[in-house]
Amino acid sequence: MRKTDIALTAGMVGQQVTLAGWVQARRNMGKIVFIDLRDRTGIVQVVLGQALTPGADDVKRLRPEFVVEVTGTVAERRGAEAKDQPLTQVEVQASRLEILNEAKTPPFEIATEERQAREELRLQYRYLDLRHQRMQRNLKLRHDVIRFIREYLSNLGFLEVETPYLTKGTPEGAREFIVPSRKFPGQFYTLPQSPQQFKQLLMVAGVERYFQIARCFRDEDTRGDRQPEFTQLDLEMSFVDVEDVLQLTEDLFTSLISVVTPDKHLTATPWPRIPYEQAMKEYGTDKPDLRKDKNDPHELAFAFIVDFPLFEHSATEQKLVPVHHLFTSPRDEDLPLLETDPAKAKAKQYDVVLNGFEVAGGSIRIHRPDIQKKIFIILKLTDQEVQRRFGHMLEALSYGAPPHGGIAPGLDRLVAVLANEPDIREVIAFPKTSDGRDVMMGAPSRLPAAQLDEVHVRITEA
Ligand code: ASP
Repeated sequence: MRKTDIALTAGMVGQQVTLAGWVQARRNMGKIVFIDLRDRTGIVQVVLGQALTPGADDVKRLRPEFVVEVTGTVAERRGAEAKDQPLTQVEVQASRLEILNEAKTPPFEIATEERQAREELRLQYRYLDLRHQRMQRNLKLRHDVIRFIREYLSNLGFLEVETPYLTKGTPEGAREFIVPSRKFPGQFYTLPQSPQQFKQLLMVAGVERYFQIARCFRDEDTRGDRQPEFTQLDLEMSFVDVEDVLQLTEDLFTSLISVVTPDKHLTATPWPRIPYEQAMKEYGTDKPDLRKDKNDPHELAFAFIVDFPLFEHSATEQKLVPVHHLFTSPRDEDLPLLETDPAKAKAKQYDVVLNGFEVAGGSIRIHRPDIQKKIFIILKLTDQEVQRRFGHMLEALSYGAPPHGGIAPGLDRLVAVLANEPDIREVIAFPKTSDGRDVMMGAPSRLPAAQLDEVHVRITEA
């Protein structure tokens, strides 16, 4: 590629460069036209003046978001007033201009923040919205976070393993998305709410240290900060107890922040560990915001919430339901309570909260089939139901499952906090609207009757 990154021009005074990118703005000064040229690395002023020969006729046609290639000489920018722009100290005096593609007038101005107000339009034209430098920064930060995590965990011997998206339901307390099967009439796959069962099965498989940057799907009523699909760092380890998982999590995120966002500082290290009951008593929530100065955009207050109850009373039925999920282990000292008073048992469960958001949840799992069966009985699952939904898990646990546990930090919220973005949609390339639509692709959408026939689906009302 002949193109020089715009960011490099700052150190190239006197040299000839060929740049390519988008016209961010055009200023007509009579004989001379200035453009702000933008590529993924920055913005530079290009002078289209007398030195320009090939392309001189095209100057008048230039409009914002035209794609151009420019050859010219980098020069000190004289009389440059300090603008809120990178690279104001140099400009490029063009000798050649080529229009690579034209652009219609965009539905909103790319460079300003006014587009913020126009959510639906921004998402419909997300590929234009993402041209904004703030969005490019967010994509880059997300990449840096994921890359750091991959390297950090790989160095500790973790294996990244992909688990299926087409699978059978795993209970995490939300409704599932279902996918009809063409080959098996009347049968369905579901999209995983998380890889929970697979990661446990990988521990039975002897992997010992697993992680995945995993997409999770939950068919919930979307609230402001929820998306029907979201990304977790899913991880699981064998031969560990609560302490090991907490230590790994704290070390991982502390290192990540010091490397990826060194301008941030932590309110407290080591991270406070607050028992669930104490959090509820002192703060009235299990997601306390422990920042000392809530106006400090660089403060990060992490804490672990620990010792959750294993069960809670169902809001709708006369029975107990798991607080986390039904694979979560009771504390060793509470095992006898499963026989006598299960509602009093506490779990080996932990959450991570960050500035008032729950950013991770996890637990040590049950690895013995007899204890797992007891939990099913307490939850009033019938034998049939247990066999149908969890037969494979009981079977797997009975083939030498090691003690194991893990955690799953939500990456969208974490990156949003690190980017000082109020909404996770700002750090997801192609998010859904707040009511769960993809307005760019037009999803969900109706399907032709023939396609529905093929998967044996009939619409009862439209
Ligand atoms: N599967 C759990 C979740 O998605 C996390 C875990 O227990 O590791 O919340």
